[in-house]
Amino acid sequence: MAIATFDGVHRPLDVLIAGAGIAGPSLAYWLNRRGHRPVLVERMDRLRTGGHAVDIRGTALDVIDRMGLGDAVRDARTRILTLSAVRSDGRSTYEVALRQLHDGRGGREVEIMRDDLVRILFDAVAGDVEVVFGNAIRSVTQGETSVGVGFDRGPSREFDVVIGADGQHSALRALTFGPERDYARHLGAYLSIYTVDNLLNLRDQTMLYNEPGRAAAVFTVRGNARAKVVLLFRSGRIGIDNADQRAQCDLLGRRFTGMGWETPRLLEALDGAYDYYFDEMAQVRMPRWSSGRVGLLGDAAFGPSPMSGQGTSLALIGAHLLAHQLHSAPDVATAFDQWENGFRAHVIRNQRLAGDGLAVLLPGSRRGIAMRNQTMRMMPVLARLGSGFAGRLERASRSVTLPD
Ligand SMILES: Cc1cc2nc3c(=O)[nH]c(=O)nc-3n(C[C@H](O)[C@H](O)[C@H](O)COP(=O)(O)OP(=O)(O)OC[C@H]3O[C@@H](n4cnc5c(N)ncnc54)[C@H](O)[C@@H]3O)c2cc1C
Repeated sequence: MAIATFDGVHRPLDVLIAGAGIAGPSLAYWLNRRGHRPVLVERMDRLRTGGHAVDIRGTALDVIDRMGLGDAVRDARTRILTLSAVRSDGRSTYEVALRQLHDGRGGREVEIMRDDLVRILFDAVAGDVEVVFGNAIRSVTQGETSVGVGFDRGPSREFDVVIGADGQHSALRALTFGPERDYARHLGAYLSIYTVDNLLNLRDQTMLYNEPGRAAAVFTVRGNARAKVVLLFRSGRIGIDNADQRAQCDLLGRRFTGMGWETPRLLEALDGAYDYYFDEMAQVRMPRWSSGRVGLLGDAAFGPSPMSGQGTSLALIGAHLLAHQLHSAPDVATAFDQWENGFRAHVIRNQRLAGDGLAVLLPGSRRGIAMRNQTMRMMPVLARLGSGFAGRLERASRSVTLPD
């Protein structure tokens, strides 16, 4: 068994990880593999599912391969073949063959439903690490050689290190670093995603409809049995409660009133949706990702927003690099320092992609929509040439080196 040389003592580390999304189970996997004792605590009673398809690309795919999960992830990849941008009458303005696009990037990109990836990562650690569902960290008291953690339920416990992988609205960040408003930079848009029956009878297809500042998209999932609806709108920050689904649905109703194409039907279907996700498009930017023995990882520390398409890849790579440092550095402070020094430039580069993503998915004007359509038509060529957004994304996704 691998043993850490840590704070001058040779022993496995007890690491508490809050959040069983993407980053949490990934870090637990790597720590467990190196002989440490991670404990995962997830606030929900079971894995939190829902959400869009997420991309794993570039170096993040190498991490997945190192975890031995390459086949499972590729088997679960989405089967969407085409993206069609439509007019209000449903006629298509252009169509992009997505599989060709991915192949044009040398196959270094896998699109997978977030639910499926969460399940695959969790299965890779279930049975090997302690997992606590339905509980959360209430207090953190840092000492010289350990951290005392109080929970919503059950007795307090001591850990060597505590990591918050608890997402964009991280509670551990609020406890240790201060309120979310100090770190979350609003990107000027809101996103909702929910699953409905395949109302439009699509076949392995995504349809995207834009009006200035508003977008509605639908794509098929689960062998075309169901469809995911994506609604996006531009807006300054709205004081809306993250947990108030009724208020969010009312807001969507108001924002999408009068929108053309199939949008009224998609809105109507919100009532009977199988799952539901709503959040502001925000980017988490922190001057430092750790304080003493407490660190943050994934969206909690550096969420780039879905507009960058890189949140999942950053979480996967970040977890691998952090586990490497916690295992090999001589003490906690050095581990966190070296992790940040080696990873921050990659994060910044990928966070910058969010502006491109917003312009592509949610143009703010008719001219913007026309320009986006023009670019999309050239997408396969741009991808082959490695230029435009496709090229920037590809280069950013590989701008970090993994340890041997
Ligand atoms: C429901 C959902 C849908 C999403 N949909 C998309 C999408 O469509 N497109 C996209 O690009 N990105 C999406 N994301 C974000 C994407 O998953 C992340 O960018 C990325 O994968 C990084 O993962 P993460 O593990 O840091 O955070 P997340 O995947 O957000 O996972 C955080 C986990 O922490 C848990 N948690 C929260 N608070 C606490 C707490 N106090 N204590 C313990 N556990 C806690 C959450 O329940 C969740 O399981 C979604 C996230 C969620 C939660």
